Amino acid sequence: MSFVPIVCGKKDWDKQYDQSTQYSSLYCPNCHNFNVHPVKRREFISIWFIPVFPIFIGKQLVCPTCNWRQDFKNDEQLQKVVREQQNIRQGKTGG
Ligand SMILES: [Zn+2]
Repeated sequence: MSFVPIVCGKKDWDKQYDQSTQYSSLYCPNCHNFNVHPVKRREFISIWFIPVFPIFIGKQLVCPTCNWRQDFKNDEQLQKVVREQQNIRQGKTGG
């Protein structure tokens, strides 16, 4: 009789949230680059690399440069972030 260990792990996906360019280069408060974009995030517990149990499903802002993440709830909240960031950018170019 052979012993087969159960391989447990975590599997996650980032799916593109929106194609529109207004969301594609947002400001990252961590590394100060304009690389942040929104994704649909899914995390599963996996057994033998097969996802079986969801532990997180939601929307996040992601910075690919430093891996900073922040949850957001809906389009409204995302657009609020975009508006705030436009103010930041205008403030920066002004001085
Ligand atoms: Zn960053």
